[in-house]
Amino acid sequence: MTEQDLIIQYKDGEGKITERRISDIQPEHSRAIEAFCHLRNARRSFYVPRILTAAYADSGEVIADLYACFGLPEPEQKKQSAIFEPDATGRIRGHSAEAYKGQRNREKRALFRRFLLRAIARAYKEKFFALFDGKCFKCASTRELVMDHHVPMIKGGHLVPGNLVSLCSICNNSKLDLDPEDFYTPEELERLKLLLEQERQLFELQFDRERWENDREAYLLDLGVQPDLVHEILYNPEHIDYVGFSRSSHATIHVSLNLSGE
Ligand SMILES: [Zn+2]
Repeated sequence: MTEQDLIIQYKDGEGKITERRISDIQPEHSRAIEAFCHLRNARRSFYVPRILTAAYADSGEVIADLYACFGLPEPEQKKQSAIFEPDATGRIRGHSAEAYKGQRNREKRALFRRFLLRAIARAYKEKFFALFDGKCFKCASTRELVMDHHVPMIKGGHLVPGNLVSLCSICNNSKLDLDPEDFYTPEELERLKLLLEQERQLFELQFDRERWENDREAYLLDLGVQPDLVHEILYNPEHIDYVGFSRSSHATIHVSLNLSGE
């Protein structure tokens, strides 16, 4: 346990990041500390996974292992297949943010690539949110829904079917890199199990080239693409998703591939 003042960057439950000086640090529980916060002029609790960076106030020396510094037990690593090499605390630090974003974008493209056409990807994105009744799983808000990593990336979770939960942006920000067990109630976790399984099945779609070539219109409608959009895709050369309705326009499907990860 350090006796020195620290300067930390702290991300609060709403995702707002502030720089704070903290003194007289005491462990609160295995993943939280209590300390005097100069910004708030009061003692506050700080959840360690929300501390993005920390350095000694006097020397400016950056603290690599926060858990050791606070005298807290090392957090358990739940998954072995981490995407990036975690540091000694089993976590990935702020400086990896760019690589983390790159990985996220690659996984997002991979997730939607199976649909081949952007319009199909969109229809399936809607089906995904429909599984969650078009609501945030945590608070039931219908605003600004995102696909949240159930097991966070930082713990080796990927943007893959079976690991995606519909959350509003506020709940997504407060979940951050928390383990599901630290964010959801046991009852919520139980309900999620079924939804995640249904989601796995939903994304099992294999693009059926034969059906596509035989009857593009029927196939797109079957996949849930809106009839108006199907018409645009097949008959309106001006439309951004136009591929035409005949075999001769076969080549355009490859062009659309790059657009499918939105
Ligand atoms: Zn919410």
